[in-house]
Amino acid sequence: MRSAARAEHRPGFRHKARLRNAMRPRRRMRVAATLLSFLLALTCLLAFACEAAPAGHKRVMLLHSFGRDFTPWSKYAGAIRAELSRLASWPLDIIDHALVTARFGGETRDGPFIAYLQATYADDPLDLIVTIGPPAAQFVQRQRLKLFPTTPVVFAVIDENQVTYVEVAANDVVVALRNDLNSFFESMLRVLPETKNVIVITGSSPLERIWLEDIRRAGAPFERRLVFTWHDDLPFEEILKRAAALPPHSVILWCGMVVDAAGIVHEGDTAIDKLYAVANAPIFSYRAAFFGRGIVGGPMHSISGVSQQTAVAAVRLLAGEKAADIQSPAVEFGPPKFDGRELKRWGIPESRLPPESEIHFYSPSAWELYRLQIMGICAALLVQVGLISWLVHEHQRRHLAEIQSRNAIAELTYMDRIATAGELSASIAHEINQPLTGITTRASAALHWLAPETLDVEKVRAALTQIVAAGERAGDIVSGVRAMFKNEPAERTRLDINQLIRTVLEIVRVELQNSNVTFDLKLDDVPGILGDRVQLQQVILNLVMNAIESMKSVQPRVLRVHSTSDGAHVRVSVEDTGTGVDPANIDRIFKTLFTTKSRGMGMGLSICRSIVENHGGRIWVSPAARAGSMFQFELPTASAPR
Ligand code: ADP
Repeated sequence: MRSAARAEHRPGFRHKARLRNAMRPRRRMRVAATLLSFLLALTCLLAFACEAAPAGHKRVMLLHSFGRDFTPWSKYAGAIRAELSRLASWPLDIIDHALVTARFGGETRDGPFIAYLQATYADDPLDLIVTIGPPAAQFVQRQRLKLFPTTPVVFAVIDENQVTYVEVAANDVVVALRNDLNSFFESMLRVLPETKNVIVITGSSPLERIWLEDIRRAGAPFERRLVFTWHDDLPFEEILKRAAALPPHSVILWCGMVVDAAGIVHEGDTAIDKLYAVANAPIFSYRAAFFGRGIVGGPMHSISGVSQQTAVAAVRLLAGEKAADIQSPAVEFGPPKFDGRELKRWGIPESRLPPESEIHFYSPSAWELYRLQIMGICAALLVQVGLISWLVHEHQRRHLAEIQSRNAIAELTYMDRIATAGELSASIAHEINQPLTGITTRASAALHWLAPETLDVEKVRAALTQIVAAGERAGDIVSGVRAMFKNEPAERTRLDINQLIRTVLEIVRVELQNSNVTFDLKLDDVPGILGDRVQLQQVILNLVMNAIESMKSVQPRVLRVHSTSDGAHVRVSVEDTGTGVDPANIDRIFKTLFTTKSRGMGMGLSICRSIVENHGGRIWVSPAARAGSMFQFELPTASAPR
């Protein structure tokens, strides 16, 4: 209806209607009939709508103490508004007003605000007033008769000790907050037992001074243990400076900051945020509205609980219930609530918290979240470190072993060289002994034939010729032995073994004569062999010389040298009638340095074995048929397959 009335008053609308009527007079009746039927239909529609709606909308005023955005009340006001909308079964028109004069304490300045409200609600009275905070409550109680004598009121978010109960009207409900400051102090000292200084921060508005007095009274029993500092008479900027340099074991008790001593008004959460940014001590507050903005925590009210109780009372009043029927006891502190981030920041263990405490904003550490994974990774790392250490150790051990092994090989090689050098010297010494003896003997003979009484030039020439041959043979022996020790391939030529035997017997002819040895030479027609002439001569010579030596102390002295062949091998046997080989030594006589002679070198037979084996043959000893021993060696014939 209101919108229709407004339309009729629009000048344009009226002008158009007049023009239409002037231009079409004959249609007047028909237009009037149409308009009448339209109005009839509209009336029916509205009547139906009114019957369908449960009731008309309700007008509720939220009267704030300082403004809409002042903490702690703003947090409650927002929650009350949301709860009202949720619980009410009628459309609600919630109107916010703020009692600005509360900032300065001006009861005498109520006038303009009263006039404003009177003018605003003269024709459209309010269905309910909800006051937020003590100044708003006190204003309503002061000015009620002038303004809203019959409107029900819910006095909300007001500390119990600030309610003027004698002035609570019959249709009013109080939702008061009961602050158990004693339990608050005890909780604070429980979580931080080393606390010595409490810095109480609040503003300078009349209400904030009342709060300060509440804390003074509640803190009095703790004054033996705590030193209180009151910061209600300082500009907030100065308070911030001091909060940044507090001594150890200090805590800040934050009541709120609406108007500071410099008259500066602090809306919203700006003041607590600034304080939190600079404070070097933990901040405590029993006002739940500051929870989550840096305060450690403790016992405090539940904003949702208080708001719900307020909204329920408001809705029941709006529904027409009597205030006396609505039970609204003072709201006590809920279970202690703590901010997990602040506990962590100030190193407060959970074990210090009062029983049934709630921890909010708890952000578990990476260790708490991923303990198993971290432990698994650490274990894997440890295993890896262990493996790597073991591998490094093993590598070093092997490296050391290799070095030791190389050193040992080098040492062995060195020892081997020394041994080889020693063996070489011994072999040369042994082998050239015979030619040297021959040279000496023949040189003596030559000297004898040069004497004037026995002068025989031919014999001298013969002796010298033999000396030259012995010298050459000595040279050949040295070369042969060196070649053998150098492992050089021996010079292999086709040889007649019988020829070698004859040469050797010619060489030792003098020794045989001097030793009175008769010899029995039996040489078969044997095939040729491939070999080193000098070396094989040495073999036969060594065996013959050993045989002569073995017969020195026995009689008869017979040396038998035979050569035979089975076609594939040529065998040579050197048999004597000497002392024979002790059976105990039979396995050792071919070993280097084994000798039974006082001036022996133990090289002869070992050289023989080396030479024979190098030629692909073998050598052995056996007792002779009658007395003495028989040394035999056999070599493959030149035509025998290699
Ligand atoms: P050496 O003659 O310097 O002792 P050999 O190697 O030639 O070195 O001989 C080793 C040992 O073999 C001799 O000391 C000796 O005991 C024994 N022996 C060698 N030939 C005979 C032999 N014909 N009769 C008895 N013993 C022998």
